[in-house]
Amino acid sequence: MNKALRKAVIAGNWKMNMTPSQAKALIEEMKPLVKDADCDVVLCVPYVDVFAAMEAAEGSNIKIGVENCHWAESGAFTGEISSVMLKEIGVPYVIIGHSERRQYFGETDVTVQKRVRAALDNGLKVILCVGEYLEQREQGITSEVVRMQTKIALGGVSEAELENIIIAYEPVWAIGTGKTATAEQANEVNAEIRKCVGELYGKTAADKLTVQYGGSMNAKNADELLAQEDVDGGLIGGASLKAADFSVIVKAASK
Ligand code: PEP
Repeated sequence: MNKALRKAVIAGNWKMNMTPSQAKALIEEMKPLVKDADCDVVLCVPYVDVFAAMEAAEGSNIKIGVENCHWAESGAFTGEISSVMLKEIGVPYVIIGHSERRQYFGETDVTVQKRVRAALDNGLKVILCVGEYLEQREQGITSEVVRMQTKIALGGVSEAELENIIIAYEPVWAIGTGKTATAEQANEVNAEIRKCVGELYGKTAADKLTVQYGGSMNAKNADELLAQEDVDGGLIGGASLKAADFSVIVKAASK
C-alpha cells in the first residue's frame, strides 16, 4: 500500500487563540498524551507564542510551526513576519494559504506561491492549504479548484523541494463549521491532489507526498478519515486547542 510510504502528520492550527502562558500550559498537558505517537506532531501557533511553545515542547516529539510568513526577506510590510526571521529562531513549519488568510486577508494563489518560495528558500517545511468553497463543490468544480491552487502554489518548486511540502486539503465549508467532509469525499479530493502532483513530478514523488485532510476533524471522526488510503494526517483547528481531543486524533493517525 502506498500509504505506508508516507509518514502521517497531525498538525494543530491554533489560529488567533492562546496567550503565551496558555500555550505553555496546553503543551505541558499534551506532551505525555502524544509522546508515543507514530506520526509527526506539529502545533502551529500565533507568532507571540513561539518562544513559550518551543520552550514547553523542548525534548518532546512536538514540533512548533506558525500560521503564515511573508515572501520578502525584510522591508516595508508592516505587521508581517519573514521566513528569514522564522529560520533564525528555528521554527521548522509554516502553514501557507489557509482559507482564512485567503478569505480575510487578501491572500491569492499568486501570493501563496511567493510565500511558498520564500519558506522553502529558508529551509522551512510548508503546510500548503487548498480547498473549495461550498458553491464551487455544488457547481461540480472542486477538482478544478484544488488542481489550480495546487499547480500555482507549486510553480517553481523542484522535485527535491517537494519533500518539504505537505498539502492540506481543507474544504472551506468544513472549516470551523462542525461540518466534516465524508471520509469518501476527503479521500477522493486528496487522491485528486496526489494525481495532480503526479502529473507535475511523477508518480514516485506523488506517492511520497503527505496529503492531509482538514475541516472539523475531531476525536469522533478522526479514525474513519485517517483510515482512508489518501488521507495522510490532518490539519486540526478547534480540536487542537483541547489536549485530550488532539491526542485522540494523534493516536488515530498512529494506527
Ligand atoms: C483549520 O483551521 O485548518 C481547521 C481545519 O479548523 P477546524 O478543525 O476547526 O475546522
